[in-house]
Amino acid sequence: MNDYKWLDKILEAIFPRNVVCLYCGDEIEKNNKYSLCEGCYERMDFVSLYEKRCIICNRPISKNSPYDKCRDCLQEYRYFDLLIPAVVYGDLAKHLLHDLKYHDKRYLSYHFAHMINDMEIPSSVFDFDLIVPVPSSVKKKRSRGYNQAQILAKSISESLKLDIISDLLIKIDTGLDQNQLGKKDRKKNIEGAIEFNYKYASAENKSIILVDDIFTTGATVNECSKILKENGAKRVVVMVSAIASLE
Ligand SMILES: [Zn+2]
Ligand SMILES: [Zn+2]
Repeated sequence: MNDYKWLDKILEAIFPRNVVCLYCGDEIEKNNKYSLCEGCYERMDFVSLYEKRCIICNRPISKNSPYDKCRDCLQEYRYFDLLIPAVVYGDLAKHLLHDLKYHDKRYLSYHFAHMINDMEIPSSVFDFDLIVPVPSSVKKKRSRGYNQAQILAKSISESLKLDIISDLLIKIDTGLDQNQLGKKDRKKNIEGAIEFNYKYASAENKSIILVDDIFTTGATVNECSKILKENGAKRVVVMVSAIASLE
């Protein structure tokens, strides 16, 4: 482990105690929410601030829209029942999630889990059996050292006191990175690339929380939900740190 990794480990222990703002590094009060200073808190694009949201994915939609779903949920069949995002994927969220993904700042997931927790969620939704992260391929995990969806899933499982099964779903390496592909290609690339781990008998009658970091086109999350439903899951609710808005 190099010196920087050690430094990060130390910071990881300090940051959740609300010493400095996660985003700008300014000193903050101990009781500041999510370890953000007032200015950065104001700028964070919380999904809960929007009055009209898609009834499936909670993406903010125009007040004037005649529909109760966003454009993507109108066009695509969704295998998940509901999606709960914490924030809209804007500048602040982009910066923080980039740090989490590429600079090993795992403590950030703790705050995102709390933001998700603070979303107004119907109590009926809370009757869950287990938590499953969206899997990443062995190759990707090897290069990055961890799966950021799994880190977030762990934080959520701690705050909801639910079991987590990290390898219920397996990602087959297709050789192509979803992030580099357009919407159509993402869908094509992910079809058949997610498998149910038959080490576990089935997901029969289970209510599952599926966790990912960012929801963009939803291709991966939808494919994972499909596999869970095909293997008997009763209900799949997705939780993500951020949801991208539609152009
Ligand atoms: Zn700040
Ligand atoms: Zn939607």
